[in-house]
Amino acid sequence: MHPGKSLARDRAGGCGGIALRLCTYSVEPGTPRLGAHCGTAVLDLARYSHLHDGLRLPADMQALLDAGPGAWGHAGDLYRRFSAELDSHDLVQDAEAGLAYSADRVRWHAPIPRPRKNVVGLGRNYAAHVAELKQELPAAPIYFTKPPTSVVGPDEAIRYPHGLTTRLDWEVELGVVIGSGGRDLEERTALDHVFGYTVVNDVSARDLQFRTPQWFKGKSLDGSCPMGPVIVTADEIPNPQALRLRLAVNGVTKQDSTTAQMIFSVARIIADLSAGMTLEPGDCISTGTPDGVGDGRIPPEYLQPGDVVEAEIEGIGLLRNPVR
Ligand code: MG
Repeated sequence: MHPGKSLARDRAGGCGGIALRLCTYSVEPGTPRLGAHCGTAVLDLARYSHLHDGLRLPADMQALLDAGPGAWGHAGDLYRRFSAELDSHDLVQDAEAGLAYSADRVRWHAPIPRPRKNVVGLGRNYAAHVAELKQELPAAPIYFTKPPTSVVGPDEAIRYPHGLTTRLDWEVELGVVIGSGGRDLEERTALDHVFGYTVVNDVSARDLQFRTPQWFKGKSLDGSCPMGPVIVTADEIPNPQALRLRLAVNGVTKQDSTTAQMIFSVARIIADLSAGMTLEPGDCISTGTPDGVGDGRIPPEYLQPGDVVEAEIEGIGLLRNPVR
C-alpha cells in the first residue's frame, strides 16, 4: 500500500471508479475502434452509447482519454448495463449491427495503437534484474524511450531484423497509462493520475542497446513494444505494487516475479517523471523488468524467428507475440 492513502481512496484510482477492461479492436475491413472486453464479448462503446442514449462516446482510445472523467464515467455505466444484459444478448445479431462481437472473432490491436508520444521506459528498476546484469543499483530512476512506431498489439509480430542484431531479448513490464495529466505531481496522490494498466514487452536488441551509453536505438526497432491486450482501469488494481508478472518463451517460463520488487514504485516514478515535465492523457510508462531476461542467463539466450513470447500480468491479461 502507498502511505497516506486509504483503501477506499485507492480503489477509486485515477479513473473515477469505472471498472473497465478497454481494448482496441477491428473487424475486417474496418478500422481499429475503441472496445470494452466483457467476458466472451467485445462491446463497441461508441455505437452502444449512440443506440442507448443518443450520445456518441469517442470511437478511439486516445480520444476517450482526452475526453476526461465525464466520458469515462459514461463508458463505465454503459459497460455495466451491457454486462447485466449479456446473457440475453445474441452476439450474432449484435455483430450484424456492429454493437458487439464474440471476443475471438475480432482482431486485437495495442490498446493505444499509435501513442502520441514515445513510451517512457525505466531501466534497472528491479534489484534482481540489476544483479543479473552485474550493474549498480540506480540512485534515481533511469529513463529511456521507445517511439510510437515500435508499438504492436496482441499476436502481431516482434520483427526479427536480420543483420542488425543477434541479441534480441524479452522484458515483461507493468505498463501505466496516464489519465489526468499534470506537472509536479506529488507521490502521495500520483496514482490518482493513472487511468489504467496494461502489459508491455520491452523487447530489446542488446547489441544495439549497449554499443553506446544511450539505449534508444536498441529499444526502438519496429515491433519492439508489444502492448495489451487491454487497459484495465486503475480502480480494478487497488495496489499496483502487488501484481505477479510472468513471461514465457515457447511455453517455457523465463521471468516470474512481482511488482512488489520494483525499486521505484509507480507513484514514485510518476512524481519523479512529472517534476518540471508535463504528463498528458495517454502517456505510457513502462515500469521496468524483473530478473530472468535472456542476456542475464548462463549461457545467454536470445529470441529467434519462430519463437512465441507470452507476457502476463495478474489481473490484466496475457500478451502473446510471435517473432518473425
Ligand atoms: Mg525494460
